[in-house]
Amino acid sequence: MKYYIILILLNCSIFSETKKFPNIPLNESKENTIYKISKKDLYKYQLALEENKFETKENYSEDKESVFLKLNESEYFILEKYNIKNKKIQYAPFKYYDLGYTKRLEEGYQDLDSIQNGYKDEILNEIYLKNIALNFPTKVELHSLGKSRLGRKIYALKILPSSKEEIQGSVLFLGAIHSNELISTEHVYDVIYQILKYPNKFSDRLKNLSIWCVPIMNPDGMNFFWNISSAMGRKNGYLPTGMSEQHLYRGVDLNRNFPFMWNSGQKKASSGNKESVFFRGESSASEPETKAMIALARKERFIFSFSFHSHATAVLFPYTIEETKNPSDEYPKFLGEKILKKLKSFRSDRDYKLRKNLYPVDGTDQDYYYNSFGTNAYIFESSHHNPEYSIVKKVLLGARKSWVLLLDEFYESEKIIIQTFNENKEIIQSNIELPSIEFFEDEKFNSRKIDALFIKLFKEKIKLKILISAREYETKEIELESSSDLRLNKVILKKISEKN
Ligand SMILES: [Zn+2]
Repeated sequence: MKYYIILILLNCSIFSETKKFPNIPLNESKENTIYKISKKDLYKYQLALEENKFETKENYSEDKESVFLKLNESEYFILEKYNIKNKKIQYAPFKYYDLGYTKRLEEGYQDLDSIQNGYKDEILNEIYLKNIALNFPTKVELHSLGKSRLGRKIYALKILPSSKEEIQGSVLFLGAIHSNELISTEHVYDVIYQILKYPNKFSDRLKNLSIWCVPIMNPDGMNFFWNISSAMGRKNGYLPTGMSEQHLYRGVDLNRNFPFMWNSGQKKASSGNKESVFFRGESSASEPETKAMIALARKERFIFSFSFHSHATAVLFPYTIEETKNPSDEYPKFLGEKILKKLKSFRSDRDYKLRKNLYPVDGTDQDYYYNSFGTNAYIFESSHHNPEYSIVKKVLLGARKSWVLLLDEFYESEKIIIQTFNENKEIIQSNIELPSIEFFEDEKFNSRKIDALFIKLFKEKIKLKILISAREYETKEIELESSSDLRLNKVILKKISEKN
């Protein structure tokens, strides 16, 4: 008898570990339709539920005059039967679907576990990040990268390195460039939560790394999605002249607004039509959100980045834009294959795949970071779109090993690290050329301004000729061999002598 019980228990735990879930967005499910009724009819509705032996649920939100009910078909039937005047709301704001939202706002931040309680809008994001910064002052810094089109702050939480090592690299995790993809923000919060909750697991991994977490790059879109209409949120707050403020199709698709191959002319890669969901903006990097991210990326020169989206269940490696040719060393694809092996999909009809792209695109953040700074930049397409929050936790679990791998890869992979100085031992930013690697897209690399470090990762052990130059300095040619440990090559550049 005892054996049976143990077997049953074992089976249950295996079942819950491997159980997969279909992709059912809260805001698109047939089970969840929003109906507006008058406030005076709420009592009548609740009475009707009781009379019909329906469980009385807290399934509504309200504003001054109206009540917004989240109903399935049989619950809706009650409204008809009892002649309760109602109006079906197409693309209702997301707050009417996520009924725990008001409670989370009231509770605010209690402790770190609060950030695991549900989806976040731009207000909760601000509350949580400010409180995390207050509660972990030696571990994190809160930064505002700039303001959105409508003046909202774009917050970044920098998780600080755990020691003051000479070699320092940066990694970026970014969510909600498309703010209707709520789970993208959750992926970034999972990085924050895991690192702060389990410091022992990450202390060594953070010796030489800063982790920049931007949970919501597009706070205006987030506000639209939660408060105006769930048909909005992909784009930002840009308002073309002549368009009404509440127009569902206002805004720029920020992931078509980055400078690399902006408006490339490739068919369907982006749109010049202001009402299109792929509207690329009036000019390259026209949007303040894009500018804010460019400034951060230029300063940090991220080694890795994940830009989270939903829900193609895929990892896209650069270049994601068609007809762009990768440098001959092809490191991002190689790393992409390793990332894929770490991913577990909890989606019932799809496993994660490694891909170049899903459909034609241009002006994306990923390719810009790769082209301008050599960042191994991935688009991470999560497996579910706005699912019930209990499923989000599974999705995050299935993705966790992949972002931890990035941190480990920094320490374990073959790499070359250079720091450039002048003869007075002061750091100077320099241009780095790698003539033995073939480049096709005019990639030009520099050491960072903040610490004159240049870090490049390779698939395998390599010996490279490297040209290092800076304005007013003699160009230096060196040969370096990669190593898997953190070996710093200090290079001194000589000032060009002024003979005349
Ligand atoms: Zn997206």
